[in-house]
Amino acid sequence: MGKHRRPASPHQLSDLLRLDPGAPVDLTRIDPGSTPGSDEGKKRAREVQAGLAPRFADLQERLYAQGRSGGPRRVLLVLQGMDTSGKGGVSRHVLGQVDPQGVTIAAFGAPTEEELAHDFLWRIERELPAAGQIGVFDRSHYEDIVSVRVRGLAPQEVWEARYDRINDWERQLVEDGTTVVKVFLHISRAESKERLLARLDDPTKHWKYKAKDVDDRALWPAWQQAYADVLQRCGTDVAPWFVVPADHKWYRDLAVTSLLVEQLERFGLGWPAADVDVAAERARLLAAE
Ligand code: AMP
Ligand code: MG
Repeated sequence: MGKHRRPASPHQLSDLLRLDPGAPVDLTRIDPGSTPGSDEGKKRAREVQAGLAPRFADLQERLYAQGRSGGPRRVLLVLQGMDTSGKGGVSRHVLGQVDPQGVTIAAFGAPTEEELAHDFLWRIERELPAAGQIGVFDRSHYEDIVSVRVRGLAPQEVWEARYDRINDWERQLVEDGTTVVKVFLHISRAESKERLLARLDDPTKHWKYKAKDVDDRALWPAWQQAYADVLQRCGTDVAPWFVVPADHKWYRDLAVTSLLVEQLERFGLGWPAADVDVAAERARLLAAE
């Protein structure tokens, strides 16, 4: 980056992080340790994020208020990434900045027998956010391509058919009033190893450690290729993918906060009008004891 280039304001981060729909995706060319649009370091990034927080909370409350008043809008934040990439951290540190009443978080693990007996979108549809809500998917329908492919859980024709299914399904979601924000948290193999080691070294984190996480690491290139393919084939104009470099937690949190603020700003939401005669109600209240 040239030194004359003006630092991007947080509101422009989406332009730096969005993948062009249809363009080839090569994750090896995106540095997980990079911090696009935020080159002044952790302290400054935390300050910028703190500055955005009141705006974020205000916008989220408008969305919630509109939902309570019959507005159709809702936001779905889809989080994908390798284990330790910080999906849970985003839920805590980014969504933790707004009123929890307006946030619904769904985490998708390996499907149950009941879930496997249904179409792969069945369990997903049941967790979609209601009007006025910001829904967060900690893993999602994309596992039904990526995990299934890398672990060989179904033949290729099964997961191959899902790229188009997902694109059609997401298009319908968007038409029905859901803004879909898809984020791939891009962590490096080295940083992921550090975080797994930290889990083993800290008894308060042992519960997070799963032996299969190390097995998954052994297949790292296969996971990266499977992710690159969904990023490419399921990046659409109506529901593009954003790649957030995730080796720095402070950058990850600032970036996802900025993406959400930017989407919410775009709605231009006001406050719902009162459904009562405010002056008359005021008079009635004053007249009462
Ligand atoms: P965690 O997020 O650490 O609780 O791990 C959830 C595990 O569930 C991960 O290993 C995922 O790969 C796995 N998983 C989630 N969805 C699916 C799916 N549709 N098919 C297979 N595995 C899945
Ligand atoms: Mg895990």
